[in-house]
Amino acid sequence: MTDRPLPTSTEVVVVGGGVVGVATAWFLARRGVPVLLLEKGRIAGEQSSRNWGWIRCQGRDPAELALMCESSRLWEEIAREVDGDIGFRRTGVTYLAESDADNARFEAWLAHARAHQLDSRMLTRAETDRLIGENRIDHRGALHTASDARAEPAAAVPAMARTLAARGVDLRAGCAVRAIERAGGRVTGVATEHGRVRCRAVVVAAGVWSRLLLVDVGLALPQLGVVASAQRTTPAPLVTESAVGRAAVALRRRADAGYTIARTTAATHEILPASLRWARLYAPVLKRCWRTTKWRLGLPFVEALTAGRLDGERAGPFERTRVLDPAPDHALLDDVLAAAARSWPQLAGVTPAQRWAGVIDVLPDELPALGPVPDRPGLIVATGFSGHGFGIGSAAGRVAAELAAGEGAIDLAALAPERFGPVGAGVGA
Ligand SMILES: Cc1cc2nc3c(=O)[nH]c(=O)nc-3n(C[C@H](O)[C@H](O)[C@H](O)COP(=O)(O)OP(=O)(O)OC[C@H]3O[C@@H](n4cnc5c(N)ncnc54)[C@H](O)[C@@H]3O)c2cc1C
Repeated sequence: MTDRPLPTSTEVVVVGGGVVGVATAWFLARRGVPVLLLEKGRIAGEQSSRNWGWIRCQGRDPAELALMCESSRLWEEIAREVDGDIGFRRTGVTYLAESDADNARFEAWLAHARAHQLDSRMLTRAETDRLIGENRIDHRGALHTASDARAEPAAAVPAMARTLAARGVDLRAGCAVRAIERAGGRVTGVATEHGRVRCRAVVVAAGVWSRLLLVDVGLALPQLGVVASAQRTTPAPLVTESAVGRAAVALRRRADAGYTIARTTAATHEILPASLRWARLYAPVLKRCWRTTKWRLGLPFVEALTAGRLDGERAGPFERTRVLDPAPDHALLDDVLAAAARSWPQLAGVTPAQRWAGVIDVLPDELPALGPVPDRPGLIVATGFSGHGFGIGSAAGRVAAELAAGEGAIDLAALAPERFGPVGAGVGA
């Protein structure tokens, strides 16, 4: 937070300084719409600097594929405009097929790729080996999208924010929004820890915290959090420039000549009352991820049970936790590193330079909630990116900016924030 007092009014307030919030501010600024971005901790302090940096169309749900294709194009544009190198490179994404079921799933997805003129294709065993380098993986080829990209998460969003600030856009870190304010149904502004700001529209791009802000204004979003761990290595021999995913290990070449190495489905879920409330909706995800998820039940459950409503006058949960910084799962990361060395002998002996974890915000259908909220004029939601929001973040920000500026956007019915239940008073979190 700077010493400058907050403005008392603006056109649009964006809550959250992750990729989605900063991209929203980016496209509002481009339209000349006055915007104030408020971040409780640091810009990109949570998911947006902790992710793997994959910018992929490959494997996306058809409901978000058009948006993702646009996002890939926008990342390229942003990379040209920002102050500094964000490591954007079109080096491809490759999923190894390790079973007949993988092959069938990948083949089926290619129909969606063709509908969007993507260059995705199946690689033979020999083509795969040429692409991913000497390996000891028992694979049957791969699904590959050469035009998919990567960028450096620790650099990208901070660089966008710096560029915006240099252009005079008002972004404040260390300023929590305590509650969204309304008169009747309409959004009128936000109550922050540094005073109230009136505005015509509020964009909630608050990552895993969005549920708390939204339930307070009558939208019960079944959003949960899972902790995912990752690590970067010291500089390592180049095995491939492409990001590669297989069941045991996923890796991406980094600008610093190391790899970001982790495992896709491995996560830990801290059980909250909301987990129980929404368990039925999550049944399909649970069925798939039951064995790869660790479960924790502790103090956060009790704290959530006893938490009161948000109060604009008093410090609340957003000030208590400025930056979510969970401990990484070292046992898991040791195992993943060993799997990487077994897969690529050249990586044997490579050591971790840093390990971290982030809380991924998920929704039951693993699609974002992106759009206006019925009966809440002025409220726009852009959250629930379910572990793949870095790639799609730039286009999501553009859509949120268009909606906040009062422009019509693309058809977003499949991503409607109210798709899980009606908006109204008395909804439970
Ligand atoms: C380990 C890991 C690997 C991943 N890998 C990939 C990948 O390779 N590719 C990909 O596309 N995606 C990936 N993701 C997912 C991606 O990082 C997220 O989907 C994306 O960053 C979400 O961006 P966001 O802006 O919605 O949320 P966040 O980045 O979480 O930002 C939300 C911000 O809102 C702020 N905030 C919350 N409440 C308030 C409040 N009341 N007032 C003010 N500020 C508030 C928070 O402090 C936070 O900074 C990964 C995530 C993790 C954790």
